[in-house]
Amino acid sequence: MAAAQRIVIESCSIATVDAADTEYASGYLVIADNRIEAVGAGKAPEGLENVVRRIDATGHLVTPGLINTHHHFYQWITRGLATDHNLFNWLVALYPTWARIDEPMVYAAAQGSLAMMARGGVTTAMDHHYVYPHGSGDLSGAVIRAAREMGVRFTLARGSMDRSEKDGGLPPDFAVETLEGALAGTEATVKEHHDASFDAMTQVAVAPCSPFSVSTELMREGAELARRLGVRLHTHGSETVEEEKFCHELFGMGPTDYFESTGWLGEDVWMAHCVHMNDSDIAAFARTRTGVAHCPSSNARLAAGIARVPDMLKAGVPVGLGVDGTASNESGELHTELRNALLINRLGAHREAALNARQALRLGTHGGAQVLGRAAETGSLEAGKLADLVLWKLDTLAHASIADPVTALVFGAAAPVTASFVNGRQIVENGRLLTVDEDAIARSTRDEAQRLARISAKA
Ligand SMILES: [Zn+2]
Repeated sequence: MAAAQRIVIESCSIATVDAADTEYASGYLVIADNRIEAVGAGKAPEGLENVVRRIDATGHLVTPGLINTHHHFYQWITRGLATDHNLFNWLVALYPTWARIDEPMVYAAAQGSLAMMARGGVTTAMDHHYVYPHGSGDLSGAVIRAAREMGVRFTLARGSMDRSEKDGGLPPDFAVETLEGALAGTEATVKEHHDASFDAMTQVAVAPCSPFSVSTELMREGAELARRLGVRLHTHGSETVEEEKFCHELFGMGPTDYFESTGWLGEDVWMAHCVHMNDSDIAAFARTRTGVAHCPSSNARLAAGIARVPDMLKAGVPVGLGVDGTASNESGELHTELRNALLINRLGAHREAALNARQALRLGTHGGAQVLGRAAETGSLEAGKLADLVLWKLDTLAHASIADPVTALVFGAAAPVTASFVNGRQIVENGRLLTVDEDAIARSTRDEAQRLARISAKA
């Protein structure tokens, strides 16, 4: 075996986000192949062999790479529409357009979504894709190909919908799959693409869309399928008051009880939003270690409400952050979620004690790794973990006068990314992607957005 190639990063602040929240005002980090070999205070040890690169990171903060836990990549080509709607009205306005997507559109949209996040310090991405129109091509394959080319670590949550208008659901009849089709398509995607290894770049989760677009049979059989295949489960839950009312009317119980009754609480489950949770809902999530993807910008955009993140954390619920689809969060980058998680939660019951900057950074890193089931591999800077990390430049106009680097990163403007590493490989340099042509992606996403608008106007 070839000797490990080392990259040494030094003279920087480091926030490890380990269990003790260890930080170094001036420290070093050694990457050996795709792992972190060492991290500590002061200069790197003398005499390291096979050092192929030495980075003087003066003026920088190094953190674990950001981890996004909820997104819908295809929405990149339907941004800026239905801008003054609540969730249900917004969905009804957009479903007819979404049902016209095809493989080239989804590939371009995935590239746009991934590029925006990656250039802003995301090293692990996820896509909850649930629109599979008949004859639209290999949409899951297109998304996975885009993530592989970008070089980010990736979880595809293979979604599905089978409850259309004729069954009391929200999507139009032509936008959904059959129960059998959804389960077979999901199983095939897991078998073709899921990698269970420690340094996996691609994983797949089973992810029926939401209680109001999925039959009870698909929820139940989806959970059984995931457990049979040994993969995680993801869906939307408790997003709005309208959803709560829908669940009471259709199932005679609230969303959390409905999830419990269909096998959807457990340490292998994470759920987007969880805005409308009472104390016993939070206790049920804590007891079962069910994870939450907190999406504060999307919740504000759709006037959904404020998730009780401080109460969830206090109860022991694993919580990560999510951009959510960019039709409800046009910025599409995760720094906004660090900042908005902190600010929006301070508008809730706990006021200034709700969250601090270090808790916000933890949500966006270690918390994300927890809910994706990858906390042993990534989410903190510790020897033996995967080399997924970001060098944030904090000595420019935007941040130089803020003394504490973590405060600068979370409270301040989006910090320039000097370098971002995934699996030991650098994918961003000075804010530009090294793996793909950002300008070409800007053009192709605009072209595909226009093509989709033309097709759906004709339909
Ligand atoms: Zn969503």
